[in-house]
Amino acid sequence: MSLCYDLHSHSIYSDGELTPTALVHAAIEAGIQVFSLTDHDTLNGYPEALAAAKESSLILIPGVEISCRWRHSDIHVIGLRVDPANTLLQAGLERQQQQRIERGRLIGKNLENIGIPHAHVGACSIAGSEIVGRPHFAKFMVQQKIVPDIQTAFKKYLVKGKPGYAPMAWCDMTEAVQWIHAAGGQAVMAHPARYKLTSKRLRLLLQNFKSAGGVAMEIVTANHTPDDVQRMALLSQQCELLASVGSDFHGPTMGRARLGFLSPLPSTCIPIWHDWKL
Ligand code: AMP
Ligand code: MN
Ligand code: MN
Ligand code: MN
Repeated sequence: MSLCYDLHSHSIYSDGELTPTALVHAAIEAGIQVFSLTDHDTLNGYPEALAAAKESSLILIPGVEISCRWRHSDIHVIGLRVDPANTLLQAGLERQQQQRIERGRLIGKNLENIGIPHAHVGACSIAGSEIVGRPHFAKFMVQQKIVPDIQTAFKKYLVKGKPGYAPMAWCDMTEAVQWIHAAGGQAVMAHPARYKLTSKRLRLLLQNFKSAGGVAMEIVTANHTPDDVQRMALLSQQCELLASVGSDFHGPTMGRARLGFLSPLPSTCIPIWHDWKL
């Protein structure tokens, strides 16, 4: 019998709403059997998730989602089955977190300059640390009734070209893949249809990713439409990449992603877990 997989999710250790324990419980409740917590640029939630999973039959895969650059585009690469203790990966993630700290201060200043004070303090307080993401600023703006919802906060203030935006010196895509390899993991291109690249550029991205050592791409994820799933399945065949599945769940009030509602992989796909010994 085939298992139910969800290999992409977030907790309060990055921009998710649930603790790793609550997230693991929600995954079990949703019928998921193989699960990965893939917080942005950190593995710090893994020990708690593992402790919660150990009380059940859920199989937890150590994972992380790394923000990186590829030819002026912001790209996310997921590392699955990484060794959380690997020093090269840990050093890389610490660099990324330092970037988040500095960018958070810049976003705060940018917002202050346009008459939105205390956003940095507010975002840090929501995040519970200085390692903040844009969703924490968006939540602060919703709380302050500056915007009606998170989407609007992004659209009006936080995306490129808007006043709150601050660029980041993320690592290069090839570096992210190297860290994942050093930690014995498999690199997966996250939500490829979401980058709004032309099909020519998307193919180039996936070819470059494969040359750098990437092995898989997400086919089924909450951000992909049924049409995206078909297009990505074809691309994965053409680029000879394995297929991954992950909700990208951030919490009950964030985004459209829900646990346990993923469609099956198209039959032409070879799943990333085809040779996993679980
Ligand atoms: P950051 O990593 O701090 O740049 O923030 C990126 C995160 O913000 C993503 O992982 C999503 O969780 C969220 N996000 C990105 N774009 C949007 C959007 N347009 N509306 C709502 N959330 C978004
Ligand atoms: Mn996120
Ligand atoms: Mn992502
Ligand atoms: Mn994600």
